[in-house]
Order: sequence, then structure tokens, then C-alpha cells
Amino acid sequence: MKPVKIVLIYQSLLGIYGDRGNATVLAKRLEWRGISAELEVVEPGDPIPSDAQLYLLGGGEDMAQISAANAITADGGLYRGLESGAVLFAVCAGYQICGNSYTVGDNDTVVAGLGLLDVDTRRAPERAVGEILTRWERPDGSQSLITGFENHGGHTTLGRGARPLAAVEIGVGNANDGTEGAVQGRVIGSYPHGPILARNPQLADHLLTMATDRDMSPLDDSAIDRLRSERIAHVRRGRK
Ligand code: GLN
Repeated sequence: MKPVKIVLIYQSLLGIYGDRGNATVLAKRLEWRGISAELEVVEPGDPIPSDAQLYLLGGGEDMAQISAANAITADGGLYRGLESGAVLFAVCAGYQICGNSYTVGDNDTVVAGLGLLDVDTRRAPERAVGEILTRWERPDGSQSLITGFENHGGHTTLGRGARPLAAVEIGVGNANDGTEGAVQGRVIGSYPHGPILARNPQLADHLLTMATDRDMSPLDDSAIDRLRSERIAHVRRGRK
């Protein structure tokens, strides 16, 4: 069987807060199950392969996100990959650029996004910085907590084509409106860093199931579960 191909796009532009770890987590969780994975890190100037099952975008500085979006549009490989049925998971700046449009920093100039998610991002009244805790409804209807930290100066509003990924318990999320992230077909955007897939392996496995069309057998996540409990208790205590 061919390895599952994961492409991390422009880690030098969109790689703050260790978001690259999302790619490592996905590849490792496949390998731990005996499924071979191929992780390719693509930098600006390299062609983005169009034959991956999973693409990843991370967070980034304001100007870097504009450069990344321009290069992704010019390359076209990500679009072709998504047309072939791949999954895209995008964090923070990566999430914002997937939308219809966004602004960066204190600048209100509207920049066109990649048009992969029906969302728009505009300057927020104040920067969202801190721990975030959300409730994600899994495909089977059960709820799962997602922990991470957010640091973004934009507020994102969803159009009719996208639905929220999760509901906010603590933190700002999309726009202080109780929602976090966006899902549209096989494209998922989300604000938390952590990296989010290291802190929340249940979300990593969801992406892997989507991308491979295979159920992911349980792994021993007991050490991660202990850390999760500590973090969740900590952030809930901090709210009081
Ligand atoms: N530049 C974007 C913002 O501040 C994204 C920041 C990030 O990726 N952490 O909203």
C-alpha cells in the first residue's frame, strides 16, 4: 500500500508556535498503527505536490501569511490536491488565508484569501491572547474538549458555506461569538496552537480517518490524557 502523503506547506512562513508538530503527530500516529506515512515539507519556490492525502498550514506573522497565500495561489498544487479529495487542516494565519478575505495587523486593507472556506477575517477590537478551551462535536455525536492557546489579532466570521468546528468554553475563538474554527467539506480551519494535534490526538485521528477513509485503531494515549486533564483543570481554574 502506498504511504499516506502529508504535505506541510511553507513551514518557514507559516510555522510559528511549533505548528509543524501537527505534521509530526499525524505521521507518527499512522506509523504507530503500522500505516506508512510520507511527510513532505514544502517551502516557497518548491512545487506543492497535488497527490497528497493531507495538507497542513500553520500560524504565521502578518506579512508572512500574505506571502504564503500569494505563493499558494500561484502554485496551484494545493487546489488540485483538494479537487482530488485531499483534506486540508489550517491553523490561525493558515486558517485566515483559507477564507474569502482577511486583513492583517492594524491595517484595514482587505486582502483576497484562497477562497477555500466561506469565512472573512477583520481586525478585532483587541488581540486574542491566551488559553482556549472548546467543545468539538465528533462525527459520532459525542463531545470532546479541545485545548490550546490562541494569539490572533483578527476576528473571523463565518458565511453560510462554512460551519463552526467547535463551541468556545473559554477564550475568544472566531470572534468572541462562541464559535471556533470552520469546516467546509474537507477543509478545516482552527485558531488554537499547542500544537493543537499534539494536545488533542482525537482531532488528529479524525483528520486521518477523513484523509484515508480508514478507522484509526485506539492507541495508548494515557500520558497525553493526563496532560490534557491538567491543562483543562488549569484553564478552568484560571477563569474563576
Ligand atoms: N497574523 C494573524 C493574526 O494576528 C495570525 C497570527 C497567528 O497565526 N498566530 O490574526
